[in-house]
Amino acid sequence: MPLVPMRQILDEAAKGGYGVGAFNVNNMEQIQAIMEAANDTDSPVIIQASRGALKYSKMIYLKKLMEAAVEEYPQIPVAMHLDHGNSVETCLQAIELGFTSVMIDGSLDESGKKPNKYEQNVAVTKKVVELAHPLGVTVEGELGCLGGIEDGHGAGLSTEEVNTHLTDPKQAEEFVALTGVDALAVAIGTSHGAYKSGRVDPKTGEVLPPVLAMDRIHEIHERMPNCHMVMHGSSSVPPELTNEVNAHHAVQRVDGDPAKLRFMGKVFNLHDALDMAAFLMTLTTQNRMPGTQGVPLEQIADGIRHGVRKVNVDTDSRLAITGAILRVFAESPGKFDPRDYLKPAREAAYKVYVERMKAFGQAGHARDYAPMTLGDMKAVYGK
Ligand SMILES: [Zn+2]
Repeated sequence: MPLVPMRQILDEAAKGGYGVGAFNVNNMEQIQAIMEAANDTDSPVIIQASRGALKYSKMIYLKKLMEAAVEEYPQIPVAMHLDHGNSVETCLQAIELGFTSVMIDGSLDESGKKPNKYEQNVAVTKKVVELAHPLGVTVEGELGCLGGIEDGHGAGLSTEEVNTHLTDPKQAEEFVALTGVDALAVAIGTSHGAYKSGRVDPKTGEVLPPVLAMDRIHEIHERMPNCHMVMHGSSSVPPELTNEVNAHHAVQRVDGDPAKLRFMGKVFNLHDALDMAAFLMTLTTQNRMPGTQGVPLEQIADGIRHGVRKVNVDTDSRLAITGAILRVFAESPGKFDPRDYLKPAREAAYKVYVERMKAFGQAGHARDYAPMTLGDMKAVYGK
């Protein structure tokens, strides 16, 4: 099966009332883990690559890995999507490479750092739709700005600033009508990366989940029942994944001296009482990944009941991979064959993908429909 246009995957998800995970990839292990998870749960799936991923993997490798993925699992509908395209040129490059879907993020300027004016967003998004649809390629746009930065992309808005850049439902209706996008990324207070909240319980000091403006999704869905919405920054960042990362930062011996230890980038001499005390303090209090909270699965489920069809998850697989690798080195510091840690890393990512596929509801839907080609989709847009 060739890669299918993302539009079909979203249309089918809308019919079935479920959401589809869009997972970011940079390398072979992530692609393999996603495909294995999709196959084992019988899920249609969206695989996406950011500009940073394309640079890291050198485009041609990613293209060939995706070809391998669809060849190995011909029964799984897979869309290949460009995440946060910054310009018309970047989107065209991705289309040329064989992507069946592109995001043009006109909410930010081309540098990906500064919010754009609404009119600029409309203009660039419309342009990409005009170029992509005649080729059968799906287009995702974004209205409003997300917090955080990922792969160098994002205005780095604070939690307070995020709340002044939420998607306006009325403007969303106009934006979709003016641009003709297939899917709309909404800003409802989510952020990219592992630190999404910025809220702390004043009594306990514990980090609280981010406040999401789910009412915006409800209202957009009411205004446009057929609009496919996209939730970005939707990793759940569960404690079992962050704990795994935090648990395995190993203490190392320095110069073979049992009393000299390197930990968190500092050397401690345990013969020195003050150093010993400092070491114990660092060991017990230093939080390697400070307290963090992601988007609770219940809120994603609420979104899915109200028109969210694509759920972007990147951080959770990053955490799973890093935790698995740290565990290998903590338990067997002598390991040096990359397969000894990349295989557990791939397995840990696989588990996350399986859980998300089940939670979003895409599991069991891979064989619901006959996959379309870009050519079929061209005809649909031409009507
Ligand atoms: Zn995003």
